[in-house]
Amino acid sequence: MTKTRSQLLDILFNQSVAKKVVKAPLSDQGLADSTRFPFLALVGQEEMKLALLLSLINRQIGGLLLVGPRGTGKTTAVRGLINLMPQVKRSLCIHGCEEEADWNGNVEAICPDCAVKVERGEPLTKEEPMRLIELPLNARLEDVIGGINERIALEQNKIVLNRGLLSYADQNLLYIDEVNLLDDAIINAILDAAAQGMFTVRRGPMTATYRSRLFLVGSMNPEEGKLRPQLQDRFGLRVLVTALEDPTDRLEAYRRAIAYQQTPHKFVSEWAYHTHLTSVDIQAARELLPKVHFAKGVEKEGIRWIQDLKIESQRAEITLFEAARAHAAADERETTTIDDLKVVASMALRQRKSKFISEYLERQKKEDDLIQEVISS
Ligand SMILES: [Zn+2]
Repeated sequence: MTKTRSQLLDILFNQSVAKKVVKAPLSDQGLADSTRFPFLALVGQEEMKLALLLSLINRQIGGLLLVGPRGTGKTTAVRGLINLMPQVKRSLCIHGCEEEADWNGNVEAICPDCAVKVERGEPLTKEEPMRLIELPLNARLEDVIGGINERIALEQNKIVLNRGLLSYADQNLLYIDEVNLLDDAIINAILDAAAQGMFTVRRGPMTATYRSRLFLVGSMNPEEGKLRPQLQDRFGLRVLVTALEDPTDRLEAYRRAIAYQQTPHKFVSEWAYHTHLTSVDIQAARELLPKVHFAKGVEKEGIRWIQDLKIESQRAEITLFEAARAHAAADERETTTIDDLKVVASMALRQRKSKFISEYLERQKKEDDLIQEVISS
């Protein structure tokens, strides 16, 4: 690509930015509540940084799986996103009513209170930054999807449903560290909820439905156990996070880690200016995204790659195309080109092939051919 990159991609990938970082005032950056290691201060790991950035821009990518050994900065990177979080519209109503839901012309789709608000021209939502929610390692299914409040059931002989962690994750980033060690029932519940954007809890006569438009990030160390292929397929992008290869980078990473540990507030404030610029650009990219379309022939070429690679899962093209659109938006363009597709191809298409399925289909084809042979002889 000959054209210069957008400010957003430039800040993300230009390590020299770090050398001329502007000292921003502490007061107006909200630093008091957050001393996470700044995302932009992470050395190298371009693929991981890009994947996280694209996922913040476009939820349709379908989440992200970070695969790599311990101590390579996966959790630090995810937590560092806190000061880059975009604004999302959150419902002011306990029933979750929103302006942009498909209630238009169908007042029954919102609650009576909100119907009155709409009549008065009052807003149903307010803007808030996306939040980071971490799934505790020892979480039980009840904690995640919700369940009967046992204390109230015993003491008052009443059934009351507790909200689970998932119900708070709507429009937020849900981070699952060591996703491969999680109970299958829990990970299935989360992946279903993320895919459908809502989930229902049923306990006896009680049911409750919650929105769950999650931005899902999982991480795993393959040394500690595999993630079953059908679960892995449901994560959009997959990033391999490995140790830094360049010794200069590794030394720089060490220096920054120490500087952060010694004076965290000073370190965070040194990165605050570029962090702020980046968050503004992420917001702009999200707003541009609905207008981003494909140049002629780009989608066809993407499908050709997927078929040539013999990838069965149709989630592959959703992730490939949506990540490419997010990349174009990050680069302040309305047209997605073949180059956008190439940038995200490895992340979207790797580890998608199932040896079992391809062998299974091949055997079946042989049998079907034999059936045709017999019935037409
Ligand atoms: Zn309502």
